[in-house]
Parts: sequence; structure tokens; C-alpha cells
Amino acid sequence: MQASPPPPPTSSAAKMLYEEGETHDGLTIWTPSNPYRVRSSHRRARICVAITFGILMFGLGFSAGGFLHAIVFPDGSSSIIKIPSFLKSSDSFEVDNSTLIRLSDVGNSVELEDTTIVSEEREEEEDEDDDKGKKVNSKSSEDEEDSDSDSNGEKENEEDENEEEDEEKKKVKIEEESNKKKRRGKKEPKVNSDKSEHEENEVEETEKEEEKEDENEEESEKKEKVEEKVEEEEESGDKFVKANKECTNITWYSSRLPRTAEPIEYELTLHPNLTNGEVDAEVTIRILIKSETKLLILNAENLEMVSYEISKKGSKLKADFIKCEVMTQWAWKFGKRLHKGDHIKLKIKYTSQMKSDLQGLYFSTHLGTDGKKTKSAATQFEPTFARKMLPCFDEPNFKATFQVSIIRNANHIARSNMNLLMSKEYKDGLIKDEFEKSVKMSTYLLAVAVLDGYGYIRRLTRNTTTPIEVRLYAPEDMLVGQAEFGLDTTIRALEFFEHYFNISYPLDKIDLLALDDFSEGAMENWGLVTFRDSALLFNERKASVVAKEHIALIICHEIAHQWFGNLVTMDWWNEVFLNEGFANYMEYKCVDELFPDWSIMSRFYAENLAFSQEPDGFLSSRAIESDDDDSLLNLFDAINYHKAAAIIHMIAEMAGQKNFQSALIEYLNKYAYDNAIGVDLWKIVEKHANLQGTVSIPDLAKAYTTQVGYPLITVERVDDGILVHNQTRFLFAEGDKAEEKRGDWKWPIPISYRQDSVRNGAETVYCNICSVSVTWETTSNDWLLLNTGGVGYFKVLYDSETYGKLIKELKNNHSAISPIDRSMIIVDSYDLSKTSLLNISVYMDLLEYVEKETDKMTWSIVSKQLRTIESLIEDSDYLDIFQDFQRSIIMKLYESLDWDEQGATPNQKRLQVDIFAVACRLRIKDCTKQAYQRYLKWVSSGVRNPEHHMIALMEGVKQGGTTAWERIWKAYKTAISPSEKNNIIGALTSTKDVTLINRILKYCLDGKIKANLIPRVFSYFALNQHTRNTVWKYFKSHFNEFHVILGKGSLMASCVKCLAEPLSTENELEELQEFLKSQKFEEDGQIKMEMTYEQIELNIQWRKLNEAQLGKWISKWDERRRTLYRRKRHRHNSRHIVSAF
Ligand SMILES: [Zn+2]
Repeated sequence: MQASPPPPPTSSAAKMLYEEGETHDGLTIWTPSNPYRVRSSHRRARICVAITFGILMFGLGFSAGGFLHAIVFPDGSSSIIKIPSFLKSSDSFEVDNSTLIRLSDVGNSVELEDTTIVSEEREEEEDEDDDKGKKVNSKSSEDEEDSDSDSNGEKENEEDENEEEDEEKKKVKIEEESNKKKRRGKKEPKVNSDKSEHEENEVEETEKEEEKEDENEEESEKKEKVEEKVEEEEESGDKFVKANKECTNITWYSSRLPRTAEPIEYELTLHPNLTNGEVDAEVTIRILIKSETKLLILNAENLEMVSYEISKKGSKLKADFIKCEVMTQWAWKFGKRLHKGDHIKLKIKYTSQMKSDLQGLYFSTHLGTDGKKTKSAATQFEPTFARKMLPCFDEPNFKATFQVSIIRNANHIARSNMNLLMSKEYKDGLIKDEFEKSVKMSTYLLAVAVLDGYGYIRRLTRNTTTPIEVRLYAPEDMLVGQAEFGLDTTIRALEFFEHYFNISYPLDKIDLLALDDFSEGAMENWGLVTFRDSALLFNERKASVVAKEHIALIICHEIAHQWFGNLVTMDWWNEVFLNEGFANYMEYKCVDELFPDWSIMSRFYAENLAFSQEPDGFLSSRAIESDDDDSLLNLFDAINYHKAAAIIHMIAEMAGQKNFQSALIEYLNKYAYDNAIGVDLWKIVEKHANLQGTVSIPDLAKAYTTQVGYPLITVERVDDGILVHNQTRFLFAEGDKAEEKRGDWKWPIPISYRQDSVRNGAETVYCNICSVSVTWETTSNDWLLLNTGGVGYFKVLYDSETYGKLIKELKNNHSAISPIDRSMIIVDSYDLSKTSLLNISVYMDLLEYVEKETDKMTWSIVSKQLRTIESLIEDSDYLDIFQDFQRSIIMKLYESLDWDEQGATPNQKRLQVDIFAVACRLRIKDCTKQAYQRYLKWVSSGVRNPEHHMIALMEGVKQGGTTAWERIWKAYKTAISPSEKNNIIGALTSTKDVTLINRILKYCLDGKIKANLIPRVFSYFALNQHTRNTVWKYFKSHFNEFHVILGKGSLMASCVKCLAEPLSTENELEELQEFLKSQKFEEDGQIKMEMTYEQIELNIQWRKLNEAQLGKWISKWDERRRTLYRRKRHRHNSRHIVSAF
């Protein structure tokens, strides 16, 4: 899935930090004290909680087994110590204080002592855990006895049934535990199908023994988790509690399915009626029984059972049907046991009702330019909405084949993952399309579409192993002139990935489907990729290079998924980064190959690392690996897309790009049509990386994927060198809450560094605890830069001397530092100035060099930062001078750009647009004049420049008033190009007129602006300081209506977030919280709202820390410029400089 459009790009070429295969040269490593130590103390705390809630849980009569699936704890591993060879000989390192280790003293004794302490702590914990485990166990058996004695008077056959149910529970408990173990990296041994029954039994016994051995170790953790779960349920009254009340007969208490049965094949016949939304369907599932059971459970949601039939070898089996809607499960309880190896057939006839809720099989409505509405049906199943279309084993590791048939009207088009096998006449003039049997795949990748008013354009690939047919489907009025770029990019992406992964694309076709109504950017359904129309359709004449790059990245992302995700799938959603992080990483590699002049890798730092470090620096952030099985949609966020991509990039650079590629090829081949966990991949990468023991890739990956946040390290110049120390978790927030959250987690950090005297390359040091001093050869004038290339996922705080040298270098010769590094200095200093760690004057001093900056990415970062600061000081008395400062740093670049000449490269074009946008925002006279002229030209002749058309339209609205606004709204109604529609929304929302603002908002409510564009409307409004209050007022008074239109998904939370994030006072925060509480809104978008509240608190913190400081800096700058101006005026009597201010 591709969730959100990336931020804007940069213009400079990417320079890889290391040469391939040489990454490890000269590397040294410190082995960590156990980086996961903090979890121990958390575990202790949880043990106390667990004791209390253990009693509660058994009182409630819950079966522990039902909850044991949820959590994966990393088990800390002690490490082997290595002394950095080049540092061994040195004896001149500073020992700063007790937290610092003298490098020359770093030896086995120091580290071993540390390791010993850790292992002692472990043993203590394990003892505690064991004790706890025994207590809970004894309580458990008491409860069981009580329960037995209670049932003494009951009939014998009921007792038998209870016993059987207990056995069933035990069995499914074992299944769950084995599931969990698999996720934890202890994969169950695969049983060779040729082995005799005896051998299989032996393997089973070994498995059981292993399980028993592990059981003691894990028992306490499981108990804790079970009891925590009960605690949460008690508090939230969530679905487990409801299930316990409503679905007592089901004897299954987990949202995960038992592993006693697995699907082999689905045969699905579906008849969606596009007129009334009714769906008649029939599915036959061929199921293999994996272990003895009397219970069969699968997923179904909002489906109505008509009839079912279960058979084994042609004989019908008797079973009771139980429906548990709250758990989205259907179950069958058999009178007789099913045995391992049994093949059964489950045939179900059912009905359902399509909605426009963007989930499962849903309606997508197209409003043609002629005003005619047509309804089509399409699917969105990731993560768990397949169960809304068919009863199925809706978990990624229940892979099976699918044979799909669709009954449709003769004038409609039906598509599915595979090619059409045949079309037959059905009754009542309907047609039945039968599709080929699919490859083995997960349910979330199944897709169907029944299209009305659609057409397609097809092409064939030439440079793939066998030709692949690529078809682009779009509403007929949108197809012409907008399909070529999408088709061409898809073909080239397929060719690229076949070559890169050295594995053929397994199907013979791929459809690209443009939808009006789509919740995400795109979805990688195997062979039938669905897109929001703006993410696929591109009109060369009307859309900008920004839209083109966005589309190319999304297409590459989805095509990468055909291997990463579809061919090899993560075992469970807790590691969805294996899909999304990789697709995000690979999309850059693919676009870099397909469009080398875009220099896309130069944007990787800003769009992934810097982009994700912002939310990841929040208290409310989470680890990449999540154990929350009940909020799977929340996993599709910046952490799993952008942070994961950045971590993968860091590891790929450490391994060397070629080695990394070989590892991916091995991984994909090894786990093809199967599932894998992160450790499986990291072990293979480690094997190919050949880092010769300097660092463990699995350990490093584990630290960054299982711990929340990221490290900050401090760099200081000392007498004889550079001191790197104080590794700590970076958080924007300060105070007790922050200290509590910070913990003492540590990350292994690959630190690459550069200094002035070593301009031609960077050296890398692996630093695990960073309580060490490092000495470089230095001369007094040297500047120093850490994390060159922005590859490492951490931030750096320098001492004032180093900042001084960097500022000097940037002002004198900024090109000595690479564009990515310049971006990184700006990003880190801006982020650090939000805390007490760095005075904002350092950031402002750094910014002064920007008047010479011509790099697109750096400018894009700076302009966003300045805009944010401006919104925070809106009511300050120095706002005008701050705007003058912005004008002064942009003026030189603005004057060098010509409105009539487009940049030669995409990055130059983008730079031009960004600078024009900032200049017009700052009301630089020439800019507003030029833009308005272009608006008038568009009105008179329809001529437009797609790159700065939005700026022209915005200026039209600002200067042309209601007449211009009406004209632009008229253009919206007839616009075909999705990116043109986006431009127009940007223009319409730039008005200050209250009546017009209310009109747009009304159009959102009455459907004239489609639901998935509403968050865009609000994000533009949020940037317009003149509209915020009016919009807030309207939004609040129509809150419920918006909620109905935007649904319970993330769209509504996105709108609230956009509007709330600029707030920066305690009163505003309280008012917002009270309002949302009164609307009972928080439940739906809880995580987004937590982050929004935190953002407002950080705005308040920013104002406390920086408002006065920035005022001082600005007034000094004002004095300086006035002096300069007076001098210049005096000397040259020139008016030239006036224009700059
Ligand atoms: Zn994706």
C-alpha cells in the first residue's frame, strides 16, 4: 500500500557514501552493553501489574491461551568484545567522567564486566519471572479445580464435551504459541512431505519438547501479557469482553485464527449488483486439517450466511455453525474429531451489501464531466478487509490459491488478479467471467473490480523474461491523454525489478486501475493494482513535474511489492515494515534507474529519514515492530514506511549495495510463495555483507526496529581530539514525562564523519554506547561533520565551537559541504532548537548562508521551517521584521530565476516553483505581478505553465476577488486531470472571503468536492492564516456531518490534525480537547489525536523557549541591515538594496 504523497524533492545528485563492498574497510566496533536492558526494568514493573491482574483474569474465567499470540519480546543477547584496532595503539584519549571510557582502556575487562552485570540482572529477572510464573500457575490450577467441582452435578455427556473443549483450548493454545515462536525467530522445522508418519511424529515430539523447554522461559512474559490484555479489556470494554459474552459457544478467544486447519484453495463466485449494492456469492474452500480438532474457524465480517455444506471425501459432515460478529469470525463445531491430514470442503452461500466505505468490496463513484454519475465496484483488503467480501482465513500467512468467477452486466467490465479464462452467458442476460487460478497468495492481495463506464489502454513489456500484458483502466472520459506515462513507467519498473531481483514476474498480466474513491495512494494487489486516480493518471500538458515524480514513485512502490510483499510476505502485521519499508526504499532505487536525471536519491534523506524523525521524536511514537494486533490500520504510517526505509537504507549502505542486492535475491528465492520474519532477512544480509564481525546486522536491525525513537549523540572538541558521547533517546518534549519515556535504551550507531582536512571521503566508526572519545587529526581551523550523507538514523548535537566552524564554512564556501549534509545540518539544528539543547540563534546563524543556496531540497526544508516559525510568531511584534529576514535570504535566488524560462532539469523546475511560491507568500512585488499576469493569460487564452499554474491561480483569487474565484471553481467542475483538481483546490482555499470559505466547506459536505480530497482542502486552509478561524468555526458546527462523510478511518483524523496543529496556546489546546471529548471523537483516531495534542504542546514549548530569543536575534539582524543600508546609501547613493527589503 502507498499511503501518502512524499514531500518535495531536491536537485542534487546522490553520492553514495561508500563504495560497494568496501563499507567495512577500516571499521571498528565497540560491542554494546545489552541495548535492551531497559526492557528488564519495564518487565519488573509489569510483573507487579501482572500479579494484580492475574487474579482478576482468572476470576473472569478467561483462557490464557487465547491471548498469548500478541506480543513479541526481544531477547537481549550478550556480545563479543572487539577492540578497535586503530585505537588500540592510542593512549591519548580523554576520560571525561564516569560515563566515558578511555578508548585505549577499552578492553575485555571493562566490557566483560558490563556484560557480566547484564547477565546477572537477567538471571535475577528470570528468577523473578519463574517465581511469578509458579504463582500464577498454582492460581490457575486452583481455579480449574474450583471449576471442576462446580460442574460435578452436570450430565456426563456435557462433561465429555467440556473436556473436549478444554483439550481444544489446550491445542489451540499450543498452536498460538508456536505461531508466536515463529514470529520470534524460532521457526518451526518444516516437515518434509516424503517423511513417514513415524518420522513426522518424531519431529512433532521434538517440537513439543522444544516448546516445553521454551515454555518456562516465556511463561512469565506470556502471563504478563495476558493479564495486561485483560486489564485493557476491562478498561476499554473492547471486543474480547463482548466476545466473551456474546460468543461463548465458540471457545476461542483470540482475533488470530487457530492453526489447526489451513486453506489450500478458494473457488469464489461473486455477483455484485452495481445498482442496488447487493452481493450474492458462493465460496468453496478446500481445507487441510493440520492437527486433530473439532473446531473450524475463519473470518467473516458483515456477511449473511445463506447455507453451508461441509464434506470429507464426498461425505457430508455434521457441524454446528456459530457466528461471532464482534470477533469477525465464523466457526463450526463438529460432532466428531477431524484428524491431521484430512481434506475437507467447506461450501458457503452468502450475501452482503456494498457500501461506499472504501473497505472490502465497495462502491467507487465517478462523476463525469457531463455531470453523469456512474458506480463501479472495487476492493481494498489490506490489512483485514478480505473478510468483508468472502469468508476466509484472513491472515497473511494462510496463503492459498484463488479461482474467481464474477457475474456481471453485459456492458460492465470485470477484472481480478489473474487473466480471464472464459466468459459465459449466465441467466437474465448476465455474463459470467471465469478467471485463471491464482498463484499461492495471502488474502489481502486478492482483488476484484466490476467497472461501469471504464475503458483501457494496453501495452506489452519487451525486456522481461516473457511478455507481460499491462493494461491501464480508467473512466472513459479520463483515459485519453493520461494513460501513457503510467503504462510506460509500469513496464519499465517491471523490467527493472525482474533484473534487480533476478526473478521473473510470476503472472502474465498486470492491470492498473484508476479509482475516484480510494482510501490510500495505491494498493499492490497481485496483478490488479488499484490507484487513487491522481496517483496514476498524468497529463503531460496540464500536470507538473511534481505530480509526475509522485506518480513514478508510487508506481515503482507498487511494482516493488509484487516481489516484496506479494511473492514473499511478512509472517504477521507486526513486521509490515518488511513490505512497506522495503517498497518505500525500492521505489527510490527504481525511479533512480528509470529517471536518472531526477537525482531522486538526493531526496531520500529528507523524505524518509528527516521526515520520519519528526513524528519519531514524539513521546507518542512507537517502535517499527508493533505488538498491537487490534489497531492494524495504525501500522501504515511514517514509522513503517519512511523510518523503516531509512533503516533499510542504513543497513544496505553498511552491507554494500551489491552485497545487499545478492542478499535480497537469496531471501526472495528462499521464501517465495511463503512468509518470512525480519530475522530471516537480516541473517541473510549478514551473510552477504561480510562485515567480518565488526557489527551484527541482526542486532543492529533489532535495536532500530524494536525500540521506540532514535539516538542523539553529542560531539565536543577537546584538547586532543573529538569527543563523541552521551547517547540518549532524542525527544522533542521536555520535563518529567520525557525523562520517564527516554529510558536508557542504546542503539549501535554507524557514525561516518568528515572534516575539512579529509574532504575526499568519510570514515565510519561503529559506536554502540558512544561513551567514548574519538580523536582525529585536527588543525585549528577544521570543521567537522558527523553522519555524512545522512545515512545513520540519529541526530548530532555539536559544541558551540563546531557550530561556529560550520557556520563559517557555510557562509564562505557552502559547496564544500554536500547538499544532503547541508540539509541535515539545517534539519538537526532546527529540531534541536525546539528543545533546550540548542539556542535558536545558532539555527538562525546557520540560516544566513541560505541566500547563496541553490539546492532544491535544502530550500524546500528551509521554506517549510520558516513558514512554521512564522505561524508560531503570528501575534509577535517582530513578525514584519521576520518576514523581511525571509525576503532578504530569498531575494538573490528569486532574482536569478526567470518566469518565462523553465529549468532544464526537473529539480531546477521544482526549485523555481518553490521559490516563486515563497516569494509570492512574502508578497514580493515582482512575484505577485508576474503570477497575476499569468492568471490573466490563462483566463484570456487558456495558456498555462503546468509548473506554476497553481501559483498563478492563487494570485488570481487573491487579486481578482469573487469573479476570479467563480471562474476557477467553474474550471474545477470540468477538470479531468486529477493534479489539475489539486491545483485548483490550492487556489480556491487561498481566499480571505468568509462567504467563499464557507462555500468550499459546503461543497465538501454536499459532495461537490469528493471525500478523499477533503483532507487536502483542510491542509491548504491550515496554511492560510486568514482562514483558520472561519474554517475551525464551520468545521466544529458541522462536525458530525464531516464525520459521516469521512467515515471512521483516518480521513477525519487527518482533517482535525491539519486544523489543530498550528495551535500554540494552553487555552487553544484545552478548548480542542474539550470539544473532541464532547464529540466522543478520540476513539476513532486516537493515535493521530495523541500526536496532534503533543504537537500543540510542543508549539507551546517552542514559544516559551524561543519566542523571546528569536526576537532578540531578529532585532540584532534588523540593526545590522539598517547599518549596512545606511552605509551603502551613503557610499553609493544607490537604491538597489531597497528592493531586497
Ligand atoms: Zn506499500
